[in-house]
Amino acid sequence: MRLSRYFLPVLKESPKEAEIVSHKLMLRAGMIKQQAAGSYSWLPLGYRVLEKVKKIIEQEQDRSGAVELLMPTLQSADLWRESGRYDAYGEEMLRVKDRHKRDMLYGPTNEEMITDIFRTYVKSYRDLPLNLYHIQWKFRDEVRPRFGTMRSREFLMKDAYSFDLDKDGATQAFYRMFVAYLRTFHRMGLVGIPMRADSGPIGGDMSYEFHVLADTGESAVFLHADLVNKPIPPIDTDFRSDLSAIFKDWTSLYAATDEMLDEAKFKTDVPEDKRLSARGIEVGHIFYFGTKYSDPMKATVTGPDGKEITVHGGSYGIGPSRLVPAVIEASHDDAGIVWPVPVAPFEVTLINLKAGDADTDAACEKLYAELGNAGLDALYDDRDAPAGQKFATADLIGIPYQIILGPRGLKEGQAEIKHRKTGERETLPLADAVERVRSLVEPQRRDKV
Ligand code: ATP
Ligand code: MG
Repeated sequence: MRLSRYFLPVLKESPKEAEIVSHKLMLRAGMIKQQAAGSYSWLPLGYRVLEKVKKIIEQEQDRSGAVELLMPTLQSADLWRESGRYDAYGEEMLRVKDRHKRDMLYGPTNEEMITDIFRTYVKSYRDLPLNLYHIQWKFRDEVRPRFGTMRSREFLMKDAYSFDLDKDGATQAFYRMFVAYLRTFHRMGLVGIPMRADSGPIGGDMSYEFHVLADTGESAVFLHADLVNKPIPPIDTDFRSDLSAIFKDWTSLYAATDEMLDEAKFKTDVPEDKRLSARGIEVGHIFYFGTKYSDPMKATVTGPDGKEITVHGGSYGIGPSRLVPAVIEASHDDAGIVWPVPVAPFEVTLINLKAGDADTDAACEKLYAELGNAGLDALYDDRDAPAGQKFATADLIGIPYQIILGPRGLKEGQAEIKHRKTGERETLPLADAVERVRSLVEPQRRDKV
C-alpha cells in the first residue's frame, strides 16, 4: 500500500472525549470514527486489524472442528417468543417493526436462530456432534457505551453454538472451545486467562470468561500468577482426543472475577507470593446451557434406539471489535501503538526520507516491490512530507518494523531498520534489508503456534 494513495486520517491532538489509551490511540491513528453513541465506522487501518483478528479466530474455530456460516442481523421476534426471551431480554434489545408491522429485533445474540436452523435440518444422532459459528454484528443498547469499541452498542461477535446428544458430549465440545480460546488469544499476542464465571440457574463448572489483564479493565480479577506465563497447548493437540486434562490443568489454578470471588478459597489455594489481584477485560465467554433452548424450541434428534433426544447445547462468544482495543491496552508506549506482528495492519513500513529525489524514489520502489515478493504486508510512505512527520506517523500507527532510506544511506548502499517495540536500530546493506525483515517477521506470525 502506498501511503500517498491510502486513507489514513491521523490526528495530531489527543481527542478529549477518549478516557482510555486504546480509545485515544484508535482515534489518533485514524482507525475508527464515531457515528453515534456506541457506534463506529472502521476506517481502513482499523479495518485491516479487525480482519486480521477475525482471520485468527476463524482459523482456530475451524481447527477445533466448528463450521462457519452467516446468519442475518435482523431477526423475527417470533423465534424469541418461542424461547421465552422476547419479553425477558429487556431494554438492551433493539426492537423494530417492518412495514407489515411485524416485530423484528437487531440480534444481541443468536441462540434462537441457530436452534431454528438446527431443528430444520438435523434429525439423527449420527449428525452429532455439531458446532456452528458465525462472525456477525450484534446490537445491545448498553446503558453506558464507553471506551470506543471496547463497549459499544453495535459490535462484532464470534458466536459458536454446539449441539450434542448429552452432557458428556457437550462437555467435550466445551473443552475443545476452551483450548481453541487459549490458542486464539495467544496468537494475537495476548494472555487470555480463563476465569470461573457465573453459570446462572444451569449451575456446574462449565462457564468460563477469558480476561486480558489491563489496568483499564472493567472487572476486578483475582488469580494465581502462574496463569500469566502458562505455556499454550501446541498445534498438534488432537482435537478428537480427550482434552479434559488440559482443562483440568488450567482450571486447577485459581482465577475469578470479583463477581465469583471466593476469598477463603483464593487464600487457601494460592500461596501468598502468587496471589495476583488485577483488572481484566472480558474478551470471551464459553458457556454450557444444556437444553435451555432445545427444550422449548423442540430441537431433538432420533437416537440409536429410535427414541427422540433433546440435544444439549453451549454457546461460545468472542468480541473481535473489543479485542482490537484490548491488544492496544496491552501493547503501546508514549509514541503510539506497538502492534504484535500477527494483528499488525502492516508488518513493515518503508520510509522514503526524500520523496521526489529520483534516485531515492527508484531505490524505494525496488525495495517496496521486493517486500511484496517476500510475502510481507508493507506500507510505503511515499508522501512528500518532512521526515519527522513520517517517523511520528510510523510510530503512532505501530507498524512493527520500519525500513528507512534516504539519499545519504543510498550513497553508502545502506538502509536502516527500526524495531518499533524496542527502539533498536540496525544499519545494513540495502540488498539485505528485505530478507532481514522477513526473518524477523516470519517467526512471530504465530500461524504455526
Ligand atoms: P460484558 O459483561 O462485557 O457486557 P457480556 O457478558 O454481555 O459482556 P457475552 O454476552 O458473553 O458478553 O458476549 C460475548 C463476547 O462479546 C464478550 O466476551 C465480549 O468480548 C463481547 N462483547 C459483549 N458485549 C460487548 C460490547 N458492548 N462491545 C464490544 N464487545 C462486546
Ligand atoms: Mg453485556
